[in-house]
Amino acid sequence: MSGFDDPGVYYSDSFGGGEGIGDEGVLKRSQIKKKFREFLRQFRVGTDRTGFTYKYRDELKRHYTLGEYWIEVEMEDLASFDEDLSDCLYKLPTENLPLLEEAAQEVADEVTRPRPVGEENVQDIQVMLKSDAHPSSIRNLKSEQVSRLVKIPGIIISSTAVRAKATKVCLQCRGCRAVISNIPLPPGLQGYALPRKCNTEQAGRVKCPVDPYFIIPDRCVCVDFQTQRLQEAPDAVPHGEMPRHMQLYCDRYLCDRVVPGNRVTVMGIYSIKKVAQTKAKGRDKGAGVGIRSAYLRVVGIEVDTEGAGRGASSSVSPQEEEELRALASSPSVYDSVARSLAPSIYGSDDLKKAIACLLFGGSRKRLPDGLTRRGDINLLMLGDPGTAKSQLLKFVERCSPIGVRL
Ligand SMILES: [Zn+2]
Repeated sequence: MSGFDDPGVYYSDSFGGGEGIGDEGVLKRSQIKKKFREFLRQFRVGTDRTGFTYKYRDELKRHYTLGEYWIEVEMEDLASFDEDLSDCLYKLPTENLPLLEEAAQEVADEVTRPRPVGEENVQDIQVMLKSDAHPSSIRNLKSEQVSRLVKIPGIIISSTAVRAKATKVCLQCRGCRAVISNIPLPPGLQGYALPRKCNTEQAGRVKCPVDPYFIIPDRCVCVDFQTQRLQEAPDAVPHGEMPRHMQLYCDRYLCDRVVPGNRVTVMGIYSIKKVAQTKAKGRDKGAGVGIRSAYLRVVGIEVDTEGAGRGASSSVSPQEEEELRALASSPSVYDSVARSLAPSIYGSDDLKKAIACLLFGGSRKRLPDGLTRRGDINLLMLGDPGTAKSQLLKFVERCSPIGVRL
């Protein structure tokens, strides 16, 4: 069944979305949702003396009145309220996170009523998750974690523009003109299967053709989304290896929360999508069936502000400032910086000088017509194996952790 889950539109016999859950499943879901609602409504912080505040209820109300339709839930709060509840969110986030969002929407509805005229319909609420759990690394994510909630640190190295993705589509049959609206689409980077046959009553009429449906874009419900690329934190890369990457999918309020260069810790659902078809020749054709590539559907993102290379939080003491000034005004500063580079490596003086220049950047050039040119210095090192190229660059990477050695 080729094209089974192409990212995009493809065809199948049934309507997607509800995966045929039985009565038992419906009951269980409504119980979980009820518990989520109780948690959001009743979770409180504080002591008898200082008085209690209803953390999430108040937060929902505050955000809602500001026109910000999201809330951040701490997994530890959920665990202290009901261990089983946080466990089922950890293990089956794809099923249970939407329930938490529905519960949040219902609680938001309760606490903001009555709403002004024209705003009677309550908005959807996005729930973001946060946790104190020990983070794992991209390297340790294995297939058994698929569909689980994971927490990963890294550096954002690129991000796409924000685009729209339909969450509910509206279809029309080109045969009988029947319109079916609000068909839910799977979240993340998964595709959706358009039904192949029209399912409206066919009594006494000409049968509708195969693949009769087309999408009415104006009547679809869409959300903003963006994909970003997360690179493994340099300190997690084993010696002599290349950093690994992971694609991130962010939607709604998570778009544009972080920019390339940020050190982040991401909470997300480890998800899989079909590998883009490569032009396979001859007998290699079809080798990719069943192979999926991984990405992370982000449900919470935090910018790290502590440690090397994380933001500009470290301040310089007056004494250090004085020392730096003295060093800068000394005529031999170039030599002493170059000599301080990778002191364990003997010789390579010219190379060290070049690296010193690389570390401190070039000078930004402003052309007469107002154009500016980045003055960054690029360095290409060629040499026989075992001539300390990697060693020198490993040192650079430790001085300037945003850098990447290729
Ligand atoms: Zn039809």
